[in-house]
Amino acid sequence: MEIYMKYDYLIVGAGLFGAVFAREMTDLGRKCLVIDKRDHIAGNIYTEEIDGIHVHRYGAHIFHTSDKKIWEYVNQFTEFNQYINSPVAVYGDELYNLPFNMNTFSRMWGIRTPAQAKEIIERQIREAGIAEPANLEEQAISLVGTDVYEKLIKGYTQKQWGRKCTELPAFIIKRLPLRFTYDNNYFNDRYQGIPIDGYTRMVERMLEGIEVRLDTDYFRVRHEIEADTTVYTGPIDEYFDYSLGHLQYRSLRFETEKMECENYQGNAVVNYTAADVPYTRIIEHKHFTFGKQPVTVITREYSSEWKPGDEPYYPVNDSRNTELYRKYQELAGQEQGLIFGGRLGQYQYFDMDKVIASALSCVQSQNK
Ligand code: FAD
Ligand code: UDP
Repeated sequence: MEIYMKYDYLIVGAGLFGAVFAREMTDLGRKCLVIDKRDHIAGNIYTEEIDGIHVHRYGAHIFHTSDKKIWEYVNQFTEFNQYINSPVAVYGDELYNLPFNMNTFSRMWGIRTPAQAKEIIERQIREAGIAEPANLEEQAISLVGTDVYEKLIKGYTQKQWGRKCTELPAFIIKRLPLRFTYDNNYFNDRYQGIPIDGYTRMVERMLEGIEVRLDTDYFRVRHEIEADTTVYTGPIDEYFDYSLGHLQYRSLRFETEKMECENYQGNAVVNYTAADVPYTRIIEHKHFTFGKQPVTVITREYSSEWKPGDEPYYPVNDSRNTELYRKYQELAGQEQGLIFGGRLGQYQYFDMDKVIASALSCVQSQNK
């Protein structure tokens, strides 16, 4: 005989948002059930072990934050190593350090001092004559000039987003630091690292003592589970059966290969910035944890427009989608006992630290 159970919270999605929300609510004495349609926990930060290497199945994930409280929060569940992300970019037969810094400029123009780099960049910005940047192309040129834009931004961005840089919002490129020092740290954040025993273990610890059902699609079981409140971290438009139309997403295809060599590319992340290379980047997973295994695992990442049946990864936050998302939010507001959370539920280009902050603030607002 099945035991009837009513939950305080049904949490759809065992990714970071769902796991943090479930942990906090459970600690406050609420009865939570977490479901996920995948056969594993951790959502897109899932890592699996192949030959002793933690492979990031859904793309490279580097934890970084400037928020001390969030850093302390995640450190309850795992220990981080001292990894600092320093990707390199390949353009034809040229190789550049990222983010845009003195190493990049020195290689590009054969110069040495910040004053020389600034002079070239300022001249290129003047020549472009952009008063108020209105899109990603104008924003990028106004920041770093035309040479860096043409070689390191234009092709990569068009592959990543499947749109011309003139059709993309400026904020996407503002994520990347620009510095006039010889510093290849991709992030400006105070805290950074990779969980030593993998993200999956971290989420496993978050979910300790909480009921989790995998291979369980919400749309199949929604009428069988009784809960006061549903927390939904899948795509908001899918929840409403696309009744107002489809939001756009970028999907990704990962081509993972085990190589019988110790070190394939000498770095965890190598971006391919030219438009004629079909993938955006190659990840060599062992370098995230300074692995010494005799073999290696690499992943080529290809970006494509999402269509039904694909996994949605990146929301496309342009004006059309932002407008449509607002309309879905209005629909959501009319329902009782329903919360949308996370990158897909809130249709935002959130990093992990922002997802955790958002889940914690959601818990707080539930307890007012
Ligand atoms: P998800 O991890 O997507 O979890 C949602 C879960 O809901 C999924 O497991 C899904 O299966 C489940 N679900 C959906 N619909 C249903 C349904 N109907 N029924 C049951 N379950 C359902 N952030 C960083 O801070 N640093 C990085 O370096 C970084 N790199 C990234 C690289 C890539 C390629 C991508 C795509 C993202 C990256 N991010 C990075 C962002 C990071 O992945 C997200 O911030 C985080 O994973 C979002 O967690 P989430 O819980 O919102 O969503
Ligand atoms: N970008 C670029 N060239 C690069 C790396 C990034 O032009 O070599 C741009 C691109 O538009 C990308 C954005 O900067 O979408 C943000 O890059 P980030 O590495 O933060 O992307 P993510 O890790 O989220 O895919």
